[in-house]
Amino acid sequence: MKFINDKCSICGDCVAKCVNNAIISGDIYRIDIEKCIDCGACVEVCNQNAIVEYVAPIVDDPEFNS
Ligand code: SF4
Ligand code: SF4
Repeated sequence: MKFINDKCSICGDCVAKCVNNAIISGDIYRIDIEKCIDCGACVEVCNQNAIVEYVAPIVDDPEFNS
């Protein structure tokens, strides 16, 4: 899953590149995870390297992990 971080300069280049209209523009840009097919096309076009792989935080909770 892709994620746009705070390096984003709001240039809009990725929006045109997205094959599935998954990038939502505005004051900040974000990726609609319901629509994103994880193709990576937006990553290649982003000159800020702001589109990165989302890594879920590791929860260090024995009850949660049991
Ligand atoms: S191409 Fe990169 S810097 Fe430009 S709007 Fe998209 S995520 Fe932001
Ligand atoms: S990975 Fe592909 S589908 Fe997902 S936001 Fe980027 S260009 Fe769009």
